[in-house]
Amino acid sequence: MQHHFIANAPARSASERTIPVIDPSDGEPFDAIQRGTADDIDAAVHAARQCLDSVWSRLSAAERGRLLMRLAAKVAEHGEELAAIEQRDCGKPTRQARADAQALVRYFEFYAGACDKLHGETLPYQEGYAVFTWREPHGVTGHVIPWNYPMQIFGRSVGGALAAGNVCVVKPSEDACLSLLRVAQLAAECGFPAGAINIVTGYGHEVGDALARHPGIDHISFTGSPRVGTLIQQAAAERHCPVTLELGGKSPQIVFEDADLEAVLPTVVNAIVQNAGQTCSAGSRLLVQESIYEPLLERLGEAFAALRVGPAGLDLDVGPLIRASQQQRVWDFLSDAQHAGIPMVAQGQVVEEAPQSGFYQAPTLLRDVPVTHRLAQEEVFGPVLAAMPFKDEAHAVQLANATRFGLVTGIWTRDGGRQLRMARHVKSGQVFINNYGAGGGVELPFGGVKSSGYGREKGFEALYGFTTLKTVAIRHG
Ligand code: NAP
Ligand code: MG
Repeated sequence: MQHHFIANAPARSASERTIPVIDPSDGEPFDAIQRGTADDIDAAVHAARQCLDSVWSRLSAAERGRLLMRLAAKVAEHGEELAAIEQRDCGKPTRQARADAQALVRYFEFYAGACDKLHGETLPYQEGYAVFTWREPHGVTGHVIPWNYPMQIFGRSVGGALAAGNVCVVKPSEDACLSLLRVAQLAAECGFPAGAINIVTGYGHEVGDALARHPGIDHISFTGSPRVGTLIQQAAAERHCPVTLELGGKSPQIVFEDADLEAVLPTVVNAIVQNAGQTCSAGSRLLVQESIYEPLLERLGEAFAALRVGPAGLDLDVGPLIRASQQQRVWDFLSDAQHAGIPMVAQGQVVEEAPQSGFYQAPTLLRDVPVTHRLAQEEVFGPVLAAMPFKDEAHAVQLANATRFGLVTGIWTRDGGRQLRMARHVKSGQVFINNYGAGGGVELPFGGVKSSGYGREKGFEALYGFTTLKTVAIRHG
């Protein structure tokens, strides 16, 4: 049985109710988390505020950096344990679970080193004045974390917030709490003061909503669906609380006829099957120049047909989806595609060892997807790739920008001028040319335009979002 983690101690929910924890590989419950309430959020916000006022705000930036560096080392030491927890809780194949734990280490290292490099400026002003700016933390920050990459998103969100001098109240998805509860314990063992990192588990519409509405929360970072992003924004608007929203995408991979197909093929496949397609930056649309459309789809079809799906512990190409409702969501998209007469090029195979009760979905390649169809417009969040042809550069830009999202774009061409023209004309927060970063590195600012959200996480840029700027003007005569 798991507990909330508030003020460096396990805590039961005021509801005295729990939520079962399900293993996506077999659909069976194996643990339980607390079903939190607004009272639990209140306790966590209170603990965070006390920590901020009495301890955290008095630490120097270098001391915060040292704590984060210690935590990075501790997470590295416990990497295998955390990966095993994540594998069971979220159905991640071993390589992915390990990669997530390693990314968490990198986030903490990066933000540890950044703590004492964040500073304001001196500004030219009128004669007789000295003017400068301070970068100040918001205070108590709220973090609503989804289930697809709990450790990575915790690392970028909480790591950045702590580095900038904030304290944190975290609400993980009820489907992905276990690794984060363990990381919070490790932080306490490293010397993080009670209340710096608090975790309250439970349902989004209960504790998530309570967090977004709490008057003691000074900033909210949210990663998840556009629908809930709107709810968070509305709740925060009531008290003019700043928010950072990362709401996913329908990211295109654009392949021109002069592209290096040997590099394109594995990257395009990986960008949609990694984490079973449950990636905000998944390359879920494939735009291919007409002249190479047929040969590329043929080779891609062979690659899809060779993909194997099964229990996380087998570490195949693809693991299960997170839960039954996500599986149903993918099935709904695929049956819509069938009704619309969208041709399927190929599908991978679910292996025999996969229990019937697990949440499996074979990777699927669809072609000639009309740009207006929901498969070309909405996030499936499953291993489904929608391919369509384009004529020329202008057409490629038009198709690339024809969704409400704008998170990541992949551009594949050897023509240098075209690389830059395309990079300039696509509407998205990140552009990868002749590679595709699926979210990119820890160091690279990440976030969207349009309905993909706003604000940037990752990299040094994130620290500006986790701070507010105070301008101080001194008249010295
Ligand atoms: P979601 O509902 O947006 O969940 C994201 C987070 O928000 C979870 O922690 C969730 O908690 C919480 N939440 C839910 N309702 C809330 C509310 N009213 N107030 C505050 N927080 C709330 O996403 P989902 O239903 O899990 O997935 C649906 C679709 O969203 C996916 O198929 C995918 O297209 C998209 N999605 C995108 C990302 C991304 O990385 N951009 C991540 C996840 C999902 P609970 O899970 O505990 O309810
Ligand atoms: Mg689970």
